[in-house]
Amino acid sequence: MVIDCHCDVLGKMLTDGNLHFQDNTRLDVTYDRLVDGGVAIQTFAIWIAEHLPHTGFDEVLRSVDLFRTRILDKHPVSFIRNKADLKKSTLPDQFPGAILHLEGVDALEGHLYRLRILHSLGLRSLGLTWNHGNWAADGVSEPRNGGLSLKGRQFIEECNRLALILDVSHLSEASFWELTELAEHPLIASHSNAYAICNHPRNLNDAQIQSIIAGDGQIGLTFVPWFVTTGSDARIHQLFPHIDHICSLGGENHIGFGSDFDGISKHIKGLEHPGQFTELTNELQKHYPEKLVQGFLYDNMFRYYEKVLPDL
Ligand SMILES: [Zn+2]
Repeated sequence: MVIDCHCDVLGKMLTDGNLHFQDNTRLDVTYDRLVDGGVAIQTFAIWIAEHLPHTGFDEVLRSVDLFRTRILDKHPVSFIRNKADLKKSTLPDQFPGAILHLEGVDALEGHLYRLRILHSLGLRSLGLTWNHGNWAADGVSEPRNGGLSLKGRQFIEECNRLALILDVSHLSEASFWELTELAEHPLIASHSNAYAICNHPRNLNDAQIQSIIAGDGQIGLTFVPWFVTTGSDARIHQLFPHIDHICSLGGENHIGFGSDFDGISKHIKGLEHPGQFTELTNELQKHYPEKLVQGFLYDNMFRYYEKVLPDL
């Protein structure tokens, strides 16, 4: 079984209103592929692309509606909102389970009521920014490398109260460290790799990795080819130096995977959609003991969700 803590299929569905969750010509993530690849839990990110004609809160609500009507209502996918749902998701007829995430809080425009509405609709995870800065914080591509705004800090207080999972992938380094101080629950970097292995700014430096480990958080290693290697074609085995590096920092129980499927235009060869998690599993089993492989694929992330999701 596998947990994938980040994909962007909802972003594609929002861009093209006719896409259904079985379209394996235009989507990476489809229902059948999740089942084929043994994906027991998939996090679905709401992401409003900047080039869309409308980018306001209505588009976030529309994404929630797509998640419900195209994914939950039409397929045997269970919605995970609490520990009880998480436990249920391990039963064969509840498989796979889905966690709803928001990538970038731009459309909330600082309104806490919008956060509470999304929480009441089942949102359990969010990242403050995409790559640029917004009203809450600076993202990783913002040249000034600022941290959180005053409104962003107030927003995190409400996230703490609601026990929302906070995702540090995409944050500027200053935002990362400020959030580390403010967050009351363990953090996740849902789709980032190790900077020491591939020096892309979206990857985590050693101090960040150590801080996530020390806080009992998780790192979802991602399949974005240019976060894996600076070379031209990424291969599955090139994920292993990232794993080894995080393990060398004491993180063997803090590694999972966040594919970024449907958020990428190029793929690691042989790891192009969730059905191919079987290939990743085979490769991992050649290099690591079974207990570690199970940890990376499922157990580590499951333990994290078990700890951070609300009881009911
Ligand atoms: Zn992303």
